[in-house]
Amino acid sequence: TEVVVIACGIWAPQVAAMAGAFVVSTPVDHQHAALRAVAGAELPRDMPCFRDPDNLVYGKAESGGVVLGGYELDPNARWIDGVPWEHAGTSVPPDLRRFEPLLKGAARRFPFMSEAGIVKLVCHPDAMTPDANPLLGPVPGVRGLFMAAGLSLNGFGAAGGMGKSVTELITAGESELDLYAYRPWRFGPVHRDHRYVAELAKETYRYYYFLRYPYDADEWGRPRRTSALHHRIQDLGGVFGTKQGWERPEHFDPGKPWRRAGADQRRFGWNRPPWFALQAEEHRAFRERVGIIDMTSFGKIELDGPGALALLERVCGNQIDRPVGTVVYTQLLDRRGGIAGDVTITRLGPERFRLVTGAGYVNSDLGWLRLEQREADGAVEIRETTEDLCVIGMWGPQARTVLRTLTDDDVSEDSFPFMQGRTIRIEGFDVFAQRVTYVGELGWEFYVQPRLAVQVWDRLMAAGRTVGIRPGGYRALDSLRMEKGYRYYGTDLTLLDNPLEAGLGFCVRFDKGDFNGRDALATARAAGVTRRLRTLLVGDEEYLTVYGGEAVYADGSIVGRLRSCAYGFSVRRNIAYSYLPVALGPGARVEVEVFGQRVPAEVHRDAVLKREQLAGEDLKHAAS
Ligand SMILES: Cc1cc2nc3c(=O)[nH]c(=O)nc-3n(C[C@H](O)[C@H](O)[C@H](O)COP(=O)(O)OP(=O)(O)OC[C@H]3O[C@@H](n4cnc5c(N)ncnc54)[C@H](O)[C@@H]3O)c2cc1C
Repeated sequence: TEVVVIACGIWAPQVAAMAGAFVVSTPVDHQHAALRAVAGAELPRDMPCFRDPDNLVYGKAESGGVVLGGYELDPNARWIDGVPWEHAGTSVPPDLRRFEPLLKGAARRFPFMSEAGIVKLVCHPDAMTPDANPLLGPVPGVRGLFMAAGLSLNGFGAAGGMGKSVTELITAGESELDLYAYRPWRFGPVHRDHRYVAELAKETYRYYYFLRYPYDADEWGRPRRTSALHHRIQDLGGVFGTKQGWERPEHFDPGKPWRRAGADQRRFGWNRPPWFALQAEEHRAFRERVGIIDMTSFGKIELDGPGALALLERVCGNQIDRPVGTVVYTQLLDRRGGIAGDVTITRLGPERFRLVTGAGYVNSDLGWLRLEQREADGAVEIRETTEDLCVIGMWGPQARTVLRTLTDDDVSEDSFPFMQGRTIRIEGFDVFAQRVTYVGELGWEFYVQPRLAVQVWDRLMAAGRTVGIRPGGYRALDSLRMEKGYRYYGTDLTLLDNPLEAGLGFCVRFDKGDFNGRDALATARAAGVTRRLRTLLVGDEEYLTVYGGEAVYADGSIVGRLRSCAYGFSVRRNIAYSYLPVALGPGARVEVEVFGQRVPAEVHRDAVLKREQLAGEDLKHAAS
């Protein structure tokens, strides 16, 4: 058999394990009830199905009554470490207590339902993944194995499209639709803990209808992964969000006890966030003095062996073959030139490379590299090393002044230029320093063994005191990078966008030989791209509630939607990115729909603030 598709519903993870594959889903109970018709209030046969997210229910008319389902706020996961083989399509015992709030919700919308008796309540588990997206496509490392499972309560609605897409993947190797969000290999070692995964599955189920605000952080299954600097961040008043299981500072509230962020926006709603002023302070530290941030959650992958360079040259648009110690900013590309990843790659030795990616994408990039491996490349060991190293970012105009007080190594511009990485000693501790930036200021990422991380952090903090060093969180990174035009994978860059459209043409080296997507990009370049990621300044100095996804209008028609958005504290403007028709270049006027109001916006050049480095090659990190 050349091709096997696992479409085994809640049994899929254990069937996949038989082939040595690791995929993740958890059975979560889903209940629905048949309610009797109420005389005088029968629902007509031709009534459309309804979805009522405010009341957490959906349903359809049935014999004058209704068949009602919904998403409980306290869901139940079962068989989290394996589904009994003998379970079949029979109902498991229902739980009326959990369903009652949904009945009340339905009665708020259809008052007669409070009088309708229940004919039957049934309960079936369905396979929920941690992000409520299905598992669709090939499995890296097991040739010929495909997944079509983890349907997360979308099985009826999506089965046709999923069947078609998997067929395309099997027969043609690619699909018409962007299925990247569904790649079965997006979960990693942290997801091997079935208790943790069950918490994630239940939380996504809880929010299936229940409004999740864009600034809310996941609350369940925490804390799962903490950096060696966690206690330092706690001492400084860190407010933690979470990504890929990592606890990470979103911002700091100095002088207040540390806390974990959760459904915070539920309290302040669609308004300016209460941390706005604190974020502004952090932003200014990086821009005007020096800021420091714990970026340990960066995904890290090492490639070692004679085949490493050939593999990387094939999957990357940029040229990887450069002297040892060089850092390259590049996109991982598919054969159509679409962006599968956005990473930096450091050459650590002739045959050894470290790829650094966003916390949320390390498993994706790892799987992608494995799928792209070819025997002809030669041997290469690909290994995730995320937890082997802590990362401390320190940037700002005073960054060199601070570093100089701690090291005898020459960190001058001439000796340690941009896009270089090497081991230096910080007060006797070996640290691999990379001169790269995602905030657009002078500075370094320090890669440190976890056992030394606190020592190095403390010394940097102490040395920075005289110049006003300040710790920052991931929210400040967003406002900093957007002022400089840096992109973010998953939001600004996806498989359906190519580097030429994304304004990253400087990362594509057509002259380096063949690579994934070269022909497609050459054709696109010759024909001229039709759309381009643009920077918009929306409204005026006043903070605007823009979150991404808002429609962009030109001459009364929708021409794009917002991708990343952030308030730029240095330029005092609301900054947003959007792919727009190329005719709408810098200087063009458009409008953005913000909560029903059309707000004027101006198309600006990519970087609103001039970048520190623009010579031919620029860099950012995907700090997702
Ligand atoms: C109450 C309820 C209401 C729902 N409402 C909706 C809705 O309105 N819209 C919607 O889109 N979805 C809905 N769903 C979700 C939908 O039913 C599921 O997502 C879908 O049925 C899952 O399909 P599947 O093919 O992945 O799994 P299944 O339908 O469970 O099929 C898996 C099959 O694999 C077989 N199998 C298992 N192990 C093996 C093995 N080792 N070898 C061979 N075969 C094996 C099983 O016997 C089974 O037949 C609802 C679910 C529930 C519980």
